[in-house]
Formats: sequence, C-alpha cells, structure tokens
Amino acid sequence: MSGSALYETFARVPLTFDRGEGAWLITDKGDRYLDFAAGIAVNSLGHGHPHLVEALTTQAAKLWHVSNLYEIPDQTRLATRLTEASFADKVFFTNSGAEALECAIKTARRYHYVNGHPERYRTITFEGAFHGRTLATIAAGGQQKYLEGYGPKVDGFDQVPFDDIDAAEKLITAETAAILVEPVQGEGGIRSLPVQSLKRLRQLCDKHDLLLIFDEVQCGIGRTGKLFAHEWAAITPDLMAIAKGIGGGFPMGACLATDEAAKGMTPGVHGTTFGGNPLAMAVGNAVLDVVLADGFLEDVQRKALLMKQGLAAVADEFPEIIEGIRGTGLMLGLKCAAPNGKVNIALRDQKLLAVPAGDNVIRLLPPLTVTDAEIQDGLGRIRAAAQTMSEALAAAK
Ligand SMILES: *Cc1c(COP(=O)(O)O)cnc(C)c1O
Repeated sequence: MSGSALYETFARVPLTFDRGEGAWLITDKGDRYLDFAAGIAVNSLGHGHPHLVEALTTQAAKLWHVSNLYEIPDQTRLATRLTEASFADKVFFTNSGAEALECAIKTARRYHYVNGHPERYRTITFEGAFHGRTLATIAAGGQQKYLEGYGPKVDGFDQVPFDDIDAAEKLITAETAAILVEPVQGEGGIRSLPVQSLKRLRQLCDKHDLLLIFDEVQCGIGRTGKLFAHEWAAITPDLMAIAKGIGGGFPMGACLATDEAAKGMTPGVHGTTFGGNPLAMAVGNAVLDVVLADGFLEDVQRKALLMKQGLAAVADEFPEIIEGIRGTGLMLGLKCAAPNGKVNIALRDQKLLAVPAGDNVIRLLPPLTVTDAEIQDGLGRIRAAAQTMSEALAAAK
C-alpha cells in the first residue's frame, strides 16, 4: 500500500488544523491562519460559534437520530422557517448538496410525470456548472474531468454555454422538464448570472411549463448579502437546492419547492435515512437564528463592499498578478493574471486560506461573521502575497 489508507482522491495541503475560533484556524503547531475559505462556504458563522455549539451540544445530550419514521419537531420548524423566508411551500432535508440536487431533479421529473408527461424528463444546465459528484449530478454539471471513466453519462441532461439564454431556448424540446442553474457559479469561478438572464430564464420556464431550479448550495444562506442570491433578481424559482452554509459546518442540505412543483412527491417516492436528523436540525435552526436576526444581512452587505473596494485597490496596484475582482457579497473572486494555484500558495504563505476555482480564479469566502478588522488584516495579507509574486516576476525578467 502506498501513502495513507485513504483514497487518493484529494490532493491535500500538508496542514493539520486542531481548532478554530471565528475566522481563524489554528494548526497542531499553533500557527494561526485567517480562514477566507470557510470550508468552501460551509462555516457560514465561522468556527466555534457559541450559539451553534450550544445548539449542537444540547441536542447531542437529548437525542441524535430516530429516522423519518417518526415526527421530528425541529425538522418541521426549520422547514416552516425556510418556507416563510422564501418562495417555497415545502422542504425535503438531505445530508449534502448533491443529494439536495438529486431531490430537485427527481421532483421536477415527477411533476411532469403526474401531469401526464412522463416523456418530459430532461434538464438544461450551463457550462462551468457544478452540482455535485453523484452520477446524476456529474451529468448535470457536464464537466468532462468529473465524468471520465464512469461509464455512460446519466441520460437527461443537455448543456448550453454559460449565460447563453438563446441557446437554452433553442434546446427546449417536448422532453424538457426543467432548467437548472447556479445564480452565482462557485466552482466555475465566481461567475454571476446577470439579473436580466435570471429574469429571462423565469420567463422561458413560464412559457414552456418548465420548472426553474436554482442551485444555491454555495451562494445561498446569506453569502451574497441576501438570504438567497436570486433575491437580487427579484424572481423566484420553482425548486432550489441548498446545503453548505445552512449547516454552519454540520453536514446537511435541503430541497425547497413550491406546492405545485412538489405535487408528484407523494408517500414512498423518495426518502433518506439521515436527512433531517435532530442534530442537523438543531444546528440549521441555530444558523437561521443568527442569519435572520435584524441587521445581519445588511451588515454582510456593508462588509462585502469594504472587502471588494480593498481588493480592487490591490488589483489596481498589481495587475500583473490580479486582473480583476468579481462576485457579490462575501462570495468574491480574484480573477488572476498569474496562475491561480501559485496565487493560492502565495496567500497561504501569508497565512491566509482561500480556494482556487475554475476560470483561473481564487475564491474568497470568509465567514459571514468576519469583522472589519479581520477584513483589513486579510487585505493586508492579500496585498503582501501579490507584492511578493510581483517582485519574483520582476526578478525573473
Ligand atoms: C458544493 C456544491 C454542490 C455539492 O455539494 P456536496 O455537499 O459536495 O454534495 C452542489 N452545487 C454547488 C453549487 C456547490 O457549490
């Protein structure tokens, strides 16, 4: 056996974190890193948030798991709160983003099935999308690197170029059931779908009786400064997958639906063993307590502006390293001029954690609870990394 006993699927950075405090991660050697990766937008309230720790430990002492054979009051409560805060009427809880997407895709197919159109099962998606790693969600994402070697691609997904709404309309056939899109692509490189395009997708779906599915697994739960990213476009989907931020670090996801879209989801047609378990529900409710508190999202917007302006100044100073800034809220991207992998290493050398994404972008996803002082600290580290790279570039000439 070579290396560790783990699958070799992850190219891990040789860092071991022992504990976390808010926006900080501390290694086993005591080094402090400013965490602008937040577990890929998962630790929405940072590490060790007292309200989440309290919710989880209190629940842990009471009850962990009963299965969905029985009533779970906190599940009903969290579903009610999510529906009251969104377009949705119904919620199905899962353990991950991919499972939330699977539920959304299945719900869309069942909708047409119970409407007497079992032939309508295809979903249109966009290039650069990421919807998860199950067989269906790699087919939905359509990225060759994730599909290779896994046999025939799961049928039922058609893809058009990013933001090409005309191409999407042309691809609609009598077999189309839904259009699936991330309002802001995460893995794809922090690419926001313009408000106009989101509105056009809504119109297309209305015109052709398609269900509009949003994947807000990464951009949802306050990340863009609204509870859900699509709120910026003032339109609503029929179905939406969320995960990452809603658990604040505890694995959970959910599929949200209107009553109409969910009408095919009758007893027995879908299920989960772990989804909606009491531990996850306690944490999910605690995350909402914080994110929905008066002024929280406005403060995210304010901090996001501070950060974006600071980043723009760094990009202006070092255009040979950072070409531009993109994204909304605390979901920001550095479009790199240098290779993004190298920028990421330079940032890590400054003890700042970020996440590379597609399109040669570095993602900055600080906890939503990041302070102004931490943003300034982070900007200083990003500037220092850019300066170091810039000097190395000049020396090599
Ligand atoms: C992370 C992510 C997923 C997949 O979530 P998992 O929990 O890894 O299954 C799906 N869609 C988007 C937009 C994501 O960022």
